Amino acid sequence: MNRYDTIVVGLGGMGSAAAFHVARRGKRVVGLEQFTLAHDRGSSHGRSRVTRQAYFENPAYVPLLGRANELWTELQRDSGKRLMEITGGLMLGPPDGGVVKGTLASARTHGLPHEVLEAAEVRRRFPAFSVGDDKIGVLDKVAGVLFPEDCIRAHAAAATQAGAELRWQEPVVSWNATDDTVEVTTAQGTYVAGNLVLCAGPWMGELLAGLRVPLAVERNVLYWFRPTTDVALFAPDRFPVFLIEYEPGKLFYGFPALGDDGIKVARHHTGVWCSPTDIRREVDQDEIREARGILERNLPTVNGDLLSATTCMYTNTPDGHFIIDRDPRHPNVILASPCSGHGFKFASVIGEVLADLACDGRTRHPIDMFRLDRFRPAR
Ligand SMILES: Cc1cc2nc3c(=O)[nH]c(=O)nc-3n(C[C@H](O)[C@H](O)[C@H](O)COP(=O)(O)OP(=O)(O)OC[C@H]3O[C@@H](n4cnc5c(N)ncnc54)[C@H](O)[C@@H]3O)c2cc1C
Repeated sequence: MNRYDTIVVGLGGMGSAAAFHVARRGKRVVGLEQFTLAHDRGSSHGRSRVTRQAYFENPAYVPLLGRANELWTELQRDSGKRLMEITGGLMLGPPDGGVVKGTLASARTHGLPHEVLEAAEVRRRFPAFSVGDDKIGVLDKVAGVLFPEDCIRAHAAAATQAGAELRWQEPVVSWNATDDTVEVTTAQGTYVAGNLVLCAGPWMGELLAGLRVPLAVERNVLYWFRPTTDVALFAPDRFPVFLIEYEPGKLFYGFPALGDDGIKVARHHTGVWCSPTDIRREVDQDEIREARGILERNLPTVNGDLLSATTCMYTNTPDGHFIIDRDPRHPNVILASPCSGHGFKFASVIGEVLADLACDGRTRHPIDMFRLDRFRPAR
């Protein structure tokens, strides 16, 4: 039987970061992943993720985002890989809509660098956007792109270098815990440790063994289109990441042209409920037509050939905020299901938070709003 200080289950966005941060503190850690490194079956694939600082979801996220960016910058420097690119982020919508109001609230509360742009100014500076006078833009100066597969590879490599044992294609079948020990069983063996960190993304519900946590897995589609105009107009130094509230509460986002991929766009939420086993991976013509309709109204020159499309899973909580907490039945089991469709940018700092909880029992980071008991779970 193998004995460790910490076992991390799931080595996607959050788990790879957690394994790194635990290992860099000199602890014995094993990470168990059911698939291969940086696979495309969970929530962290698709070649790009938006990172933003002026967070429309809630100003309380901003301190975490500041630390997340520091850690991404450090990881980028130490790995020698390109993990992040700051392009600026254009948040568009009605002045009284959630995106614009929320972005401004975070920017003003935390004194973040930003610009407010009237519709005419948006059209002048970013002519690809077809934006009516009923909308305005807020330019978040420190928003940009993260490259998720490379971020996971970099965290995994750094974890291994710091002494972590990472085991791939080894699904966890079950676990149990006493006050000071956890035991995890996989198809290949049994692992024992002082504590357990569960970062199973959309599989979290299955791994929680009777703890009723209100998680709903949502299928979302990512599209890559070739623009009908010169692709150079969409280069990252000219065209920012963007998020449009195109109808009240309905969001559409996208990226500059990154490599030969065309322009990646997607709707934020409005997908169908699914599970990791029954998710429909094919993308149908109705979905493509719908995406084209949104593009036609908001970014008509992006509506060229469809180069590719893929699906991905959000793991949503009822209020859209993360869960980072201990299992109320077992204080030495820590849960991180921080998706709700906006978690990747936090993976670096969530890794640090999880290592704090596993190694020190507490964290200096503000995570109270991610407590599980806000949902009063039934045991
Ligand atoms: C389409 C899409 C677009 C998104 N866009 C953004 C964005 O622009 N910006 C942003 O910040 N966030 C974004 N997100 C959210 C973000 O990507 C997720 O919050 C984040 O990737 C979740 O990471 P995770 O580690 O929780 O899940 P995952 O990366 O899926 O990792 C969970 C891991 O656990 C493993 N696992 C599960 N069960 C077991 C088991 N029994 N045994 C062993 N291993 C197991 C899985 O195989 C998987 O590797 C997006 C998400 C999607 C789906």
